Amino acid sequence: MERKTEKLLTDLEENIKFFAQLGIPSVSVEPSALSIEERICQCQRCPLSSSRKNAVPGEGNRNAELMFVGEGPGRDEDIQGRPFVGRAGQLLTKIIKAMNFEREDVYITNVVKCRPPENREPHPGEIEQCKEYLLEQIDLINPRVIVTLGNVSAHFFIPIRSGVTTLRGNFYPFNDILVMPTFHPSYLVRNEGNRQLRKMVWEDMKKVMAFLGKK
Ligand code: URA
Repeated sequence: MERKTEKLLTDLEENIKFFAQLGIPSVSVEPSALSIEERICQCQRCPLSSSRKNAVPGEGNRNAELMFVGEGPGRDEDIQGRPFVGRAGQLLTKIIKAMNFEREDVYITNVVKCRPPENREPHPGEIEQCKEYLLEQIDLINPRVIVTLGNVSAHFFIPIRSGVTTLRGNFYPFNDILVMPTFHPSYLVRNEGNRQLRKMVWEDMKKVMAFLGKK
């Protein structure tokens, strides 16, 4: 070992012993050492934190090549602390399986991590406060494709103010990731008899599968 490194280690050891004698733990856990999920669960940046039962950070494969981003947790998600577990979630799980993925293969999260009251759309200020978490998740996971579900999520990534009916079916660049906007599964649930809507979502997902080389 180099003498300089040896000296640094000796100094460090002496410092630790010195602080330990004073009863001060010299290795403390700074907020930045908390995982992103822990930080989301402790977050109080916006008023949604005071009405939530549970924050919903997201779940799935941290090395996923495919990520789904919804709007914000609903009632079931708020109770369970997990994304897309209600009726819309069950439909999303079916879509994922139809794409020949398991739910565990992909990463699923939302633009805002706490439930907006009465399932209203998140306000721009709430999205702004929460933005850092989603961007950090994308940075960590580094997916090849992000599928956005509904208008709020599409507009987070795509700087075009058209609705998802116009945007869907095409890929848009977000840094070096491709974004495919499609309809929100709750919209499909609310329009259960509309086979055309389901067909359009499937067309969008087939484009994603083709890009990912999935059969
Ligand atoms: N709707 C969303 O946008 N996200 C969920 O997690 C559930 C329903």
